[in-house]
Amino acid sequence: MNDLSTQNLIQSIDDLLKAHSLRKTALSRMVLGFFLAHPNIAFSHAQLQDQINLMLDSAVDKVTLYRLIDRLTQVSLLLCRVDMNRVRSYQLMPATIKNTPFFHCQSCQKDSFISQVIQQEALDLSKAAANASQHLASLGYQNVSYQLTLNGVCTDCAQQELQ
Ligand SMILES: [Zn+2]
Repeated sequence: MNDLSTQNLIQSIDDLLKAHSLRKTALSRMVLGFFLAHPNIAFSHAQLQDQINLMLDSAVDKVTLYRLIDRLTQVSLLLCRVDMNRVRSYQLMPATIKNTPFFHCQSCQKDSFISQVIQQEALDLSKAAANASQHLASLGYQNVSYQLTLNGVCTDCAQQELQ
């Protein structure tokens, strides 16, 4: 990475932190930067801790890291999912995910958008969720958001399991 793109990346990390009223600490920059560099991958707490330890070349304070991840999730910079074993994983919130139904593979952890697959039904789902959140907002609920996730095993992983 050349100096200019590094500078741009640092600037966009700082902009994101500022836009969400988060403190610009070395750790918050590092963690958000890590997620920005791996936009389509979900990480568990333990995996994140390992990665951050590697980058720091020392042990990160676990509680501080977990608080930061919670904070990033609260402001919707990160998307948190809980798998069938109740393990939480986190990934960068794709801009489109909030109103588009997507499929999450529990084997390879990849997300794919399914609008094309189920077309009209997907639009109906989105509309229903949008209506519900507008209705809640009109009743005075705040920061209403929604995610439409279908979980399962993708075709690639399903085929591998058969082999
Ligand atoms: Zn898969």
